[in-house]
Amino acid sequence: MKINSNFLDLHESYLFARIGAIASAYQKEHPEKRLIKLSIGDVTLPLAPAVVSAMKEAAEEQANAETFKGYAPDQSCYGYEFLLRAIMRHYDKIFLAAGRPNVLKECEIFVSDGAKSDLGNLLDLFSADNTVLLPDPVYPAYLDANLMDGRSVEFLPAVRENGFLPLPEREKRADLIYLCSPNNPTGAVYSREQLKVWVEYARQQGAVLLFDAAYEAFVQDARFPRSIFEIDGAKECAIEICSFSKTAGFTGVRCGYTVIPEELKRDGAELNRLFRRRQTTKFNGVSYITQRGAAAAFGEEGERQTALCREYYRENAKLIAKSLKKLGLWFTGGENSPYIWLKCPEGKDSFAFFLELLEKANVVTTPGSGFGRCGEGYLRLTSFGSHEDTREACARLEALLRS
Ligand code: PLP
Repeated sequence: MKINSNFLDLHESYLFARIGAIASAYQKEHPEKRLIKLSIGDVTLPLAPAVVSAMKEAAEEQANAETFKGYAPDQSCYGYEFLLRAIMRHYDKIFLAAGRPNVLKECEIFVSDGAKSDLGNLLDLFSADNTVLLPDPVYPAYLDANLMDGRSVEFLPAVRENGFLPLPEREKRADLIYLCSPNNPTGAVYSREQLKVWVEYARQQGAVLLFDAAYEAFVQDARFPRSIFEIDGAKECAIEICSFSKTAGFTGVRCGYTVIPEELKRDGAELNRLFRRRQTTKFNGVSYITQRGAAAAFGEEGERQTALCREYYRENAKLIAKSLKKLGLWFTGGENSPYIWLKCPEGKDSFAFFLELLEKANVVTTPGSGFGRCGEGYLRLTSFGSHEDTREACARLEALLRS
């Protein structure tokens, strides 16, 4: 018996688990200190009332023989009609804001238990011989999921000089290209012009763009596309991966959706059909209760209530930005993204600065180096905490770094 030896080449543990372990060990040694986490990207506000009442109602239906639901319908790949329609309405609004018609169809939407699952599951469609192009720094799951399959990976530096938004390099050929906009960890957002360049490049190369739009709801500036499908030609070269996690606080509920256009063909095969085949074999859908909650999040009330939550986080980002400006520290992000990407002062390396903030300010951050080589010298801060904690963390940072 042989195991998949690619697993042996992975880093010892997932970045966030490692950071968490260091912070927990510190807390254990210093039980009297109160740590504030500006590190992991989990939401803290509860679910929107509209979502909760839809889920309660759905749970009641499950208690009744007449309304009980078992397996979700497999003809729509387990997405209930009401959720597919709600997602289409969400896209209608995105396209309307961009002044374009909605080019998507319900049959192109796959409902899942979240973006991370789909980002991994999609790889079943692609041969392990393909080359993958990743920005550096990058959301670690993209890299690890490809390393598990043994794909070779090339990196494109996302650095201050290119606004953390790399564009294609002619000499680098790739089959699968990951783009994340708004970006985790840098908070950078691609413009329409830049995405046009990527779409053009992917079409020329016969590559597939995996466009991670998990943070699209945080875009407030209409200059930035919220969907890759706002770009002409994207339906022939892109897959979009979305999530209710940060949009509607579903990190614990679990729901996402992936769009695979019917037009997208590679090697003579329609990727929509292949993924349908994959899902019906290896997946059995997202619970009815969850899908009702997700549909409510995209309903009128839900949209209004979840927008207030995102506004709450945006206020935190403003508090952090204000403190960093006061301290004269260089940073980017936080406007169309919940993430702030901070340059460590005085040439300090990421890990040293992370430890300094942990030990001297009891503020937990994420060292940029954990996201890739080009992340060295940076820290990622998130705006997902409470106002009180964020304010307190800012005060502690100001006190420490001013001295
Ligand atoms: N993609 C990016 C860029 C993320 O930052 C995250 C979560 O932090 C995910 C995907 C995972 O989202 P989900 O909770 O839907 O699995």
